[in-house]
Amino acid sequence: MIINKVHKAACHCRAVEFELDLPNGLASPRRCDCSFCRMRGAIVASVNLDGIRILKGQDKLRLYQFNTMTAKHYFCSVCGIYTHHQRRSNPKEYGFNVACLEGVNPFELKDVPVMDGINHPADRK
Ligand SMILES: [Zn+2]
Repeated sequence: MIINKVHKAACHCRAVEFELDLPNGLASPRRCDCSFCRMRGAIVASVNLDGIRILKGQDKLRLYQFNTMTAKHYFCSVCGIYTHHQRRSNPKEYGFNVACLEGVNPFELKDVPVMDGINHPADRK
């Protein structure tokens, strides 16, 4: 698996294409067991807010929010695939769908940790 510093990505139908600055490769790839991610099922990695550029299909992206309405989850309105989200635990970062990266097989990632999203970091005292 080769991760370039600037990496191309797309949803399944390619209505949405974007590129990411990944100077350190895949940053903290993880799954999450919160009520949403456990259904979505994607492996997520992090990128700075200015590290994603939507090249095509900005108008096809839809926003989903729930619970505290803090995180912003974006998905393609044509094929339904999750592309990226502005994180609740670190609003200065996006999480993005590792499976959207061109040339990257998420099944090659071993021992991907599961974040405790049921007890979300922002809810802990
Ligand atoms: Zn799509």
